[in-house]
Amino acid sequence: MLDAVGTWADAAGNWLAVEFPDATDVPPMENMIKLSGLLTIDRKFLESSDYDISDSESCPSIERAILLLEEKGLVVARSTIIKESTCSKCEGSYRDCGCIKMVGAEVRQMIMDFENLGFFWTDRRA
Ligand SMILES: [Zn+2]
Repeated sequence: MLDAVGTWADAAGNWLAVEFPDATDVPPMENMIKLSGLLTIDRKFLESSDYDISDSESCPSIERAILLLEEKGLVVARSTIIKESTCSKCEGSYRDCGCIKMVGAEVRQMIMDFENLGFFWTDRRA
């Protein structure tokens, strides 16, 4: 099994060297292989002097994304599990109190604890 990792790493390294000749062995391949067995690429923040942003080059992926954002109204939404919330009207647990925030203008659900599941793209407004 470990022999297969070495063979794969050699093949990946050779492919990267051909496809990205300026990045040959930067960072060294041995720094990218973790003891967990996962191949990860550590993030590094760049100084603004390290890159140049140009809008003269077109990218099909970005053009498709812009089309979805502008014409389809695609937005980023967050998915959460509400673990605990309080009713602003009766100050009880919103889950159990019977007040309805969609009906009573004075009723707000105050989120006290939640679990963030992640973000996703959607064309539906909350
Ligand atoms: Zn209530």
